[in-house]
Amino acid sequence: MISSVLIANRGEIACRIIRTARRLGLRTVAVHSEADRGAMFVAMADEAHAIGGSAPADSYLRIDRIMEAAHRSGAEAIHPGYGFLSERAEFADACAEAGIVFVGPPASAIRAMGLKDAAKALVSSAGVPVVPGYHGSRQEPDFLRQKAYEIGYPVLIKAVAGGGGKGMRRVDKALEFEAALESAQREAVSAFGDGRVLVEKYVLAPRHIEVQVFGDRQGNVVHLFERDCSLQRRHQKVIEEAPAPGMTAAMRAAMGGAAVEAARAVGYVGAGTVEFIADSRDGLRPDRFFFMEMNTRLQVEHPVTEAITGLDLVELQLRVASGEPLPFGQDDLAIGGHAVEARLYAEDPERGFLPSTGRLWALRFPQSDEIRIDTGVREGDEVTPFYDPMVAKIIAHGADRDEALDRLSAALSETVVAGPKTNAAFLAALCDADGFRSGAFDTGFIDRNLQALGAVEHGRDHAAAALGAVKIVHDDLAALRRIGRGEGGPASPWDVPDGFQLVGARTVAMPILVDGVREEVAITWPPGAPGDFEARIGDWSERPSGRFQSARDTAFAVAPTGTYVLEAGRQTFVQRFDPFAVDLEHLDAGDTIAAPMHGKLVAVFVAPGDPVKKGQRLAVLEAMKMEHALLAPRDGEVAEVIGEPGQQVADGARLIVLAAAAEVA
Ligand code: ADP
Ligand code: ADP
Ligand code: MG
Repeated sequence: MISSVLIANRGEIACRIIRTARRLGLRTVAVHSEADRGAMFVAMADEAHAIGGSAPADSYLRIDRIMEAAHRSGAEAIHPGYGFLSERAEFADACAEAGIVFVGPPASAIRAMGLKDAAKALVSSAGVPVVPGYHGSRQEPDFLRQKAYEIGYPVLIKAVAGGGGKGMRRVDKALEFEAALESAQREAVSAFGDGRVLVEKYVLAPRHIEVQVFGDRQGNVVHLFERDCSLQRRHQKVIEEAPAPGMTAAMRAAMGGAAVEAARAVGYVGAGTVEFIADSRDGLRPDRFFFMEMNTRLQVEHPVTEAITGLDLVELQLRVASGEPLPFGQDDLAIGGHAVEARLYAEDPERGFLPSTGRLWALRFPQSDEIRIDTGVREGDEVTPFYDPMVAKIIAHGADRDEALDRLSAALSETVVAGPKTNAAFLAALCDADGFRSGAFDTGFIDRNLQALGAVEHGRDHAAAALGAVKIVHDDLAALRRIGRGEGGPASPWDVPDGFQLVGARTVAMPILVDGVREEVAITWPPGAPGDFEARIGDWSERPSGRFQSARDTAFAVAPTGTYVLEAGRQTFVQRFDPFAVDLEHLDAGDTIAAPMHGKLVAVFVAPGDPVKKGQRLAVLEAMKMEHALLAPRDGEVAEVIGEPGQQVADGARLIVLAAAAEVA
């Protein structure tokens, strides 16, 4: 067995690999970027080496720097994790040249599966069914449009070098083909440095079902059953489970067999995943599934397979990389129960799933034997704009699907995150959604149900805002009391045993900011009932004290800038309004279109003087590996365009200004 391993990755997967490596007695070596200097995985590793700047291109994608760190640390093996260099054949080559064990398949297998077009040709000749389409090398727009016509709409344009759902566009009619092709190519060039695409039939009622495979150097290849990853947004997985709902023994045998064939066709060693798309219009049928791609690495959602098989896939990877044979054959494997994973992201479902960065002022997960939390951040850490904004993977295991989903839903509701917004409430709604529970869903489920899942703009939660304002007042008074008694140090005002009393006036009125919007709150405490109060914000008034007192449902997180009120996965941020501390320009949301985060402006569609309609696309910003459309907040006329395509822009930078409403006749 190897005795040390360098992890060429970051975040939760680096932590997850370190945990198993340590249990097996291996010395663990981390490499990290500038932004990750204080990260959890760096603290966990036995030693850590800085390898460069925060942008992935300056650190986690630098093969030379990582090899240098491997030499310096004397690491015997390198585990690439997922993403970054995990599917780069040159990285596996570099390891081989340096005499370092690459914890993954041979470079030749990565190459064979690296481009989707070549991979399809290869597995097809091994007898594995592939999606009908054009997988050749010609790229002229007219030619590809002709192919799309022959295949028949709807079609899917896919970057041959694609990954992470990028460079992919569904096209429903010929008229839309050219624009979709252009945008897929632009995204592919920017994400993979390779604009080539293929065109294939868009499978209807598509279910994404993938098979975990494992091979060893002795030539054994087995599959560890399937995972269903059909709950997706923008072709990216949101919730994954094992086994797949509605799976039959015949279909499992056919898929498992095809996956093993695909792996054998490239001499596969280690952990890999063969992804299939199934046409589920008539349920799952053994003659209606097609190979999409093979991911030649550990998959993000591997924990659900671990939960139902009881295996540690990272341990198996390390053993196989050390030359040990797989300790089981296909017939020794069985499925135990049902497991579901949810990807908790720092993003705002109410604002088009915009990534949300910043400090994690609070981060608390439920603790239970049936719940597994894989995370790479701690309370107080920062979600930076440089990497994938995944905060944690929450995995629930149960005797059956309903039990697993119930546990996951409860765990999501108990999860507390303050600072960046998260998709926790959205994920819980998904777990409870009837269509998903019934098993009758496909990859379009999320898009069709955004409204029901709560992924639409909600009004401000006035009750939560009132709770936040009261909390601010309580905290200030408690602090004053402590100062009065000559005490220092933090204490919770809820610990004060004598009941809450305001001296003199029993109404406090103050200006506040609720999620950045100015409001006026008036709080009145009736005499003799210290825990009770009435709050008024504008026309809204309520006595939300019941909610305030049941701390189980409401959590607060106090940051230097304000107070977060957290209820069922949703957060409301309340600040005292300080006219000197707030940039009034940004309060005015009607006239200015500002960058919602750090990123690169890739396109601007308007010029000064252009009339615009509410909701019209004005510009496109690329940030956190995604394109975000900037829309007109109202009808009007463009007064000023400040940004230029290609330019890097800072969070909050003004990009486009509309003429003041009164100036438009
Ligand atoms: P999986 O099927 O395991 O979810 P994905 O294709 O979605 O695989 O990608 C795995 C992870 O790697 C995701 O977290 C994704 O954001 C990240 N990723 C994908 N492509 C890249 C890339 N080019 N550079 C860095 N990370 C990437
Ligand atoms: P990536 O490398 O980005 O993971 P995939 O080829 O695995 O790309 O496709 C990502 C997702 O896009 C799939 O999980 C599936 O939901 C959808 N998809 C891919 N191909 C098809 C198809 N032919 N028909 C319908 N949906 C598809
Ligand atoms: Mg895929």
